[in-house]
Amino acid sequence: MWRSPMSTESEVREFQAETRQLLDLMVHSIYSNKDSFLRELISNASDALDKLRLESLLDKDLDVDTSDLHITLDTETDGDARTLVVRDNGIGMSREDVVDLIGTVAKSGTAELRKKLAEAKDSSTTEELIGQFGIGFYSTFMVADTVTLITRKAGEQTGTRWSSTGDGTYTIADVDDAPQGTSVILTLKPVDTENHLHDYTDPATLRSLVKKYSDFIGWPIRMDVEKT
Ligand code: ADP
Ligand code: MG
Repeated sequence: MWRSPMSTESEVREFQAETRQLLDLMVHSIYSNKDSFLRELISNASDALDKLRLESLLDKDLDVDTSDLHITLDTETDGDARTLVVRDNGIGMSREDVVDLIGTVAKSGTAELRKKLAEAKDSSTTEELIGQFGIGFYSTFMVADTVTLITRKAGEQTGTRWSSTGDGTYTIADVDDAPQGTSVILTLKPVDTENHLHDYTDPATLRSLVKKYSDFIGWPIRMDVEKT
């Protein structure tokens, strides 16, 4: 397949002003319920699996394996560096999808939240609002210094790698070896229980959060926790 040389290059792009505001809020979040990032990621993964199942029924030509649709939580610890990966083999995203859905926030749910957050005068109002609305993908920046997303849309050959430290820009690049579906790789912030940042590589912590937030998820959630 012919590919434009440009398309493999890593590109740095800026977040939309509104998105940047929301990101900034998440990065410097005083919101005490930081654990909820996991609910958001699992809910996105579950939606992606639903979409793939539906799409495979509607489009008989779509050449995808839907026999083992599931979500995996993967952890890695290397000295102080701790990583949590939430992966699904669902519908995935094209590069355009990633730019539209992740890089810009024009989505209905968060649009109202952003509007209200911009009007919020104090931190308790902010906290209330975040709790009230779904906080979505950006909630990962409450617990991670770097968020990387590797995704490939069902039926497409080329995958996309997106990465950001939540500082106003993100990088985006094509990747050749992405498995179908989406992996969200979180380079976790140091544990700080006083500030409600727990150890998200700890199997017991993860298990209890999955139980608490995602018990109703219809897809299997597997844990691949590194034993040290
Ligand atoms: P919401 O889920 O309310 O739409 P999010 O911020 O959680 O908002 O996610 C934004 C969008 O990004 C989703 O609507 C979806 O289209 C896309 N997305 C996020 N995570 C995934 C994923 N794991 N697989 C496929 N698409 C995803
Ligand atoms: Mg969501």
